Amino acid sequence: MTNPRIHLSPPHMSGREQYYIMEAFKTNWIAPLGPNVDAFEKEIAEFVGADEAVALSSGTAAIHLALCLLGVTKEDTVFCSTLTFVASANPILYQGAKPVFIDSEPDTWNMSPFALRKALNEAALKGNLPKAIIIVNLYGQSSRMDELQLICNYYKVPIIEDAAESLGSTYKGKQSGTFGRFGIYSFNGNKIITTSGGGMLVSDDAEAMKRARFLATQARDKAPYYQHSVMGFNYRMSNLLAGVGRAQLKVLENRVEERRRIFERYYHALSSLNGVDFMPELTGTRSNRWLTTLTVKEEKLGVSVKQLVESLNAENIEARHVWKPLHMQPLFSNAAYYSHEADDHVAENLFHSGLCLPSGSNLTEEEQNRVIQCFKDTVNEGQNKKELYYLRKHEV
Ligand SMILES: *Cc1c(COP(=O)(O)O)cnc(C)c1O
Repeated sequence: MTNPRIHLSPPHMSGREQYYIMEAFKTNWIAPLGPNVDAFEKEIAEFVGADEAVALSSGTAAIHLALCLLGVTKEDTVFCSTLTFVASANPILYQGAKPVFIDSEPDTWNMSPFALRKALNEAALKGNLPKAIIIVNLYGQSSRMDELQLICNYYKVPIIEDAAESLGSTYKGKQSGTFGRFGIYSFNGNKIITTSGGGMLVSDDAEAMKRARFLATQARDKAPYYQHSVMGFNYRMSNLLAGVGRAQLKVLENRVEERRRIFERYYHALSSLNGVDFMPELTGTRSNRWLTTLTVKEEKLGVSVKQLVESLNAENIEARHVWKPLHMQPLFSNAAYYSHEADDHVAENLFHSGLCLPSGSNLTEEEQNRVIQCFKDTVNEGQNKKELYYLRKHEV
């Protein structure tokens, strides 16, 4: 009998979701928009401390709208963190604009202020500053916002904060996603809270948010009939799903605590292994630890990330490599890229050595012990093999 599957980050319902869905059914608010959407927007805005929030069909849609609101079009460039999920950068292509990818730095795994400064300096000299900079907070970890903001403000380039993975995290006491002109969240099934699918755009710019609502509902002009002057989208969240989101938001703090507890247990069990390093937490920040991630030094640990992923999967445990940097993706093979230092490619190294472990807030201690045991077994096997090889080679 095989062990039941352990997923990386499955949905975790609170049990209150159906209440909101039933309310919507009772009042026949099935159609897109409705009281759950209005309430969910207000509750998110309040929670993160933004003036306004617009509920959308996905985090990707939120990034796309932010780019539209900043006037990104063909020929423009947009800078983006390279170590991220493809959804951070795809909307740049939707607008026909050119992405430029910025490397990570070692302490946060997020955008390197050095690489960004170099890229902006070169762009300024060419008179070709980007229209926007998409800064991603990876795996719940806040970026070095003070340094990045300072540089962006100097060049007067607006920030879109991709906080899809970092809802509930804080940087110096302020909620992740509220540092740029726009912030975006995702409620995809694998995120810290979920509506099964959905996203949110937040901002203090009331005028822009009014336009976001307009663009997200097919850009309908004020007229007694259907009249359209600009191209819009069908990007709004359904009232049913917003109900799920309201129930999920109520348990967000608890979910953050659970994920942090899971991180602590992994850390306690594995950090003493020679060659294992966990993703650090920047001083003054609190990560939601969406995923517990670590790096492996193969020459010290005796096994590679690839071997660990394979043996965990063989035990029916879902583990993944860290995101493959976007500048290494075939899709973006023509895009420019700026490294952390001339010969220090941080994101590439993290990709080659990084591992994500199952981190769902509903992961039981028993399941987590299975993951830890399998990890340790793989390391032991690897070290035994290495010793055997050594013995043979030296004919001991
Ligand atoms: C999940 C995710 C997105 C996209 O969100 P969707 O709701 O799935 O469209 C964007 N950026 C990052 C970093 C993500 O992890």
